[in-house]
This record gives sequence, structure tokens and C-alpha cells, in this order.
Amino acid sequence: MSKYIGPVCKLCRREGVKLFLKGEKCYTDKCPLERRPYPPGQHGRVPKKMSDYAIRLREKQKAKRIYWVLERQFKRYFEMAERMKGHTGENLLRILESRLDNIVYRMGFAVSRRDARQLVHHGHILVNGKRVDIPSYLVKPGDVIEVAPESKQLERVQNAVALAQRRGVPEWLEVDFDQLKGVVRSLPTRDQIPEDIQENLIVEFYSK
Ligand code: SF4
Repeated sequence: MSKYIGPVCKLCRREGVKLFLKGEKCYTDKCPLERRPYPPGQHGRVPKKMSDYAIRLREKQKAKRIYWVLERQFKRYFEMAERMKGHTGENLLRILESRLDNIVYRMGFAVSRRDARQLVHHGHILVNGKRVDIPSYLVKPGDVIEVAPESKQLERVQNAVALAQRRGVPEWLEVDFDQLKGVVRSLPTRDQIPEDIQENLIVEFYSK
């Protein structure tokens, strides 16, 4: 999603769900989706009947926007998920969850996945003690993720941590907020991924 430069709140209104792209504002009543819970545009309030294709397309777009990845990469993840054992839709979500930018966000070192992507890209994150600046890097259980020592005092990191301490951290991650360091205990099971995504519709979209 790095190519999208328009107002991100419109994306939430388009998908009808919170994509949590703005950080703290997403958790307040200033969130535009709470104020205007209908798609943007002149005819946004007019209910539309969607075709089966449109329903599946929207679900895929929503997942792509939640994890803030481009179409080509999303499709590649889907193909990886198909080659893995088990349910393709769940595999897809687990791959998306294991992206380094998502882990940095889930651990609370960034206010949003977009912010996490930038933190990683700018070299503020270490994986097992080594700097990794690739947001799509896939972490494994046991990996240690850490804010680089010289970046621990960054205001954006401190603000994110304050928010995360209120929001909480998923049980499949372990985070030390004093050290700004965390361990991936395991990859999440489907019921540990709270995002409102119907992955079966995404599988159907690509299988058409
Ligand atoms: Fe989406 Fe956050 Fe904007 Fe609300 S404030 S519409 S959740 S990006």
C-alpha cells in the first residue's frame, strides 16, 4: 500500500471497518468512521446491492488494507499459503501476521502498521540483535524483536508504547516495555487474530 497517498480514513469508510491506520485517533471518537459510518462520496449513503464477486473483492481489499500491503505481495502470500499444509485462508492470515512491521505494531512499538513499516524501513528495529530494515521480513517463533538502543527515546516510540500499555499485547507475544524488546512465542492461531476478516471469501476470490 505504499503507493496510496490519499486520505487513509477514506479507506476505512470504503471498507466499513476500522483499519487502524492513524494511531491514537483510531481509538477516539474523532475517528471519521464513527462519525460517518458510510462509504465516502456523493452516493455513499445510498445502500447498494453487491454481487458475489464484489463481496469477495471487498474482503480481499479490506485484508490488504489492514496489513497495508500491495496487491502483488498479497497475491504472493496467497500462493505461499496455498502451498502450506492446512487451511489456506488461515495460513494467509498467519503469514500476514508474521511480517516484521505487523509484529512491531502488535508489540506496541508503533501506533499503526504504517508507522511500524516506516520504523523498520528507517533502521530502528533489530531482530535477534541485527538491524533489519525490510518490513516484509517474516519472523519465526523464538525471534527477539527490539527497538534499536539509539531509537528507544524517540517520541513516536514512547507515544506508541503508552498507547500499547493501555491496549494490551496479544498472548502469543511477550513484551518488556522497559527494555522495548519482545519475543515471538508462537505464531497466532485464527482465534488469536482479532481482525474482522472472512478469509474464506479471499480464498474464493483467488480461486474463481
Ligand atoms: Fe480508520 Fe483510524 Fe481514520 Fe478511524 S481514525 S477512519 S480507524 S484510520
